[in-house]
Amino acid sequence: MIYWKRKIFLLPPSKLLSKNCIEKISKAVSKKDGDLFKGTYYKADEVVEKLKAYSINKDHINIKKDEPKCYYCESISENVATLQVEHYRPKAKSQDIDGVDDEDHNGYYWLGAEWSNLVLACPKCNGRSAKGNKFPVGNVRVKTDSPLNANNNFDRASCLANSEQLLSEQPILFHPEVDGKEIKISFTFNSDGEIFGLNDRGKKSIEILDLKRTPLTIARKKVIDSILSKIRTHLMTRQMGIIDDTGLRYYFKIICKEIKCNRKKNKPYSLMAVYYNINLDSFFTNEIPMQYRELFKQAYNEVFY
Ligand SMILES: [Zn+2]
Repeated sequence: MIYWKRKIFLLPPSKLLSKNCIEKISKAVSKKDGDLFKGTYYKADEVVEKLKAYSINKDHINIKKDEPKCYYCESISENVATLQVEHYRPKAKSQDIDGVDDEDHNGYYWLGAEWSNLVLACPKCNGRSAKGNKFPVGNVRVKTDSPLNANNNFDRASCLANSEQLLSEQPILFHPEVDGKEIKISFTFNSDGEIFGLNDRGKKSIEILDLKRTPLTIARKKVIDSILSKIRTHLMTRQMGIIDDTGLRYYFKIICKEIKCNRKKNKPYSLMAVYYNINLDSFFTNEIPMQYRELFKQAYNEVFY
């Protein structure tokens, strides 16, 4: 998970503000039934393409080149599974962290087509074994009878994910577009690709999204192992005398550029990359023989991206 700030909540795709969509919201509100949306609006091509572009920090997606990623786990999964439009606040049912229904709440049916409530998620993060309809809160869950104002116009202000009303619920799960720097300071990783929460919201967000699942941990570890493998290969050529210190420094710089570039938001697992850049020694430098560590640190400090 990482902080996304590309989306402008007040400028939704036109499909989500169309007359037909507002009528659908009114119907969902009158019936208190978020299942009425059935993807008609929130899965429109215009909406999906915007979310895909934003997932890699762009305004427009190039479907032939770009690789969108999950807003929650940061996996690029289009090769094996289609990313899904996910309702941060579930539209038809509300469950606590254990997956038990809140019998007193019909879900956030009035947010079924709300732009600030939509994120892109992989089937693993979005599925029932992970997030599903879970949305635990620390305070009283918000209910609404009508998001329409006195003139029968749709009142989006109270529906925004960063509105005072919705934040008063004290959501447990981080919102990738609302919780900002709190996300960055709430997780750590180790060199085995494992993720750990540093506070209650971090720990529970990991639990809700099942971010400790084995295939995901292995995928994160592969990024670290790939970098270590390159470091070891160049060290071996140095020890064999095929390259000298100048050559080793050159190759270290290429690797360090990759380490720094992995923090870019279009890269998979960029939050982990932020963490291993801060903790370079424990992830990489300490794996290098003592006599070459200073060379590696110099190379790291000399590259920019
Ligand atoms: Zn995911």
